Amino acid sequence: MKRAVYPGSFDPMTLGHVDLIERGARLFDELVICVGVNPSKSAFLSVTERVDLVTAVAAPYDNVRVCQHEGLIVDLVRSVDASAIFRGLRTAGDLEYETPMALTNRSLLGGTETVFLVADPRYSFISSRLIKEILRGGGDIRAFVPPAVAEHLESARSRLTAGGGGDADS
Ligand code: ADP
Repeated sequence: MKRAVYPGSFDPMTLGHVDLIERGARLFDELVICVGVNPSKSAFLSVTERVDLVTAVAAPYDNVRVCQHEGLIVDLVRSVDASAIFRGLRTAGDLEYETPMALTNRSLLGGTETVFLVADPRYSFISSRLIKEILRGGGDIRAFVPPAVAEHLESARSRLTAGGGGDADS
């Protein structure tokens, strides 16, 4: 059984994340999406909101499950008995950021490989940060996120315009 962990902030989930989930679900026997709890990052959406949205969007995939995790990713990799960490590459900047992470994780837990998929060009410009910028500016985010996420973000928009968190990620 080839199981991979797909970690991320998902603050909020975008169509780029969905594309990666779809492709990861085909590549691995099981994909465990891990919504990161990072006390040092100020997130826009709560962990519960992020987990609920990812769970709703990933529901059609039989071999995908969702969890939340605080701490080292390798601890989750070990506890769910995964052999890979799954990540997406949009830009050279992503690769620069990801390479030391992948090497560190392999060093911390021998045998842990990080598998990267190059972002689909239709979505490679989309980031959670971009969505928050559009929301903050009063724009329409529906072309960039799944419908369930768009609906939730509309109701949460006032939190951002009131100066809520969410600047600390990609
Ligand atoms: P993190 O804070 O861990 O980078 P993100 O939610 O921003 O969390 O991203 C999680 C993963 O999803 C990363 O590997 C990122 O490269 C990938 N990703 C994010 N947006 C896209 C996209 N538009 N296309 C492909 N992969 C993406």
